Order: sequence, then structure tokens, then C-alpha cells
Amino acid sequence: MENEETKMTEQDCRYCGGQLEERRVTRFQEYQGHWVVIENVPALVCQQCGEIYFTPQAHDLVVEYITGQHKPVRVESVEVYDAAQ
Ligand SMILES: [Zn+2]
Repeated sequence: MENEETKMTEQDCRYCGGQLEERRVTRFQEYQGHWVVIENVPALVCQQCGEIYFTPQAHDLVVEYITGQHKPVRVESVEVYDAAQ
């Protein structure tokens, strides 16, 4: 996973056994009651079922962003609905 040249990995999807592909995805993460969106997070995506796997490095990156260690590129308000009401 350290090798940038390797596009296809040796790993298989743990749900369907499909091949995993390195992609950049948008991650939505709730943190202390509000949502943070992080674009272009490196991830492994199953070509068959679409399951997304984050590497420990990507997880650390996400933690850095949600805990406010970087300046956001833009700020958007989010509409929230409660389907139970
Ligand atoms: Zn899969």
C-alpha cells in the first residue's frame, strides 16, 4: 500500500471477494455533533460491491481534519431532517 505505482492490490474485498482498487473518495464524518466532509481521501474501493476501505494512514488523516488541525477549503451549511418527526 506504500507503493504508489501499484494500482491494483493483492487484497480482496472481505464481503464479496472482489478486487480492490486505489481511489480517492469523499468521506463524511460526524464529530462532536457536527458533520465534516473531507474530499479526495485515499481509499481502497471494491470494484464489485463498492465497499470502501480506509488505510490506517487515511484514518489518521481524517482524524487530523475532523479535529481542526487544517483550515477548511470552504464551509457549507448542511440541511438536517428527522424522519421520525
Ligand atoms: Zn466487495
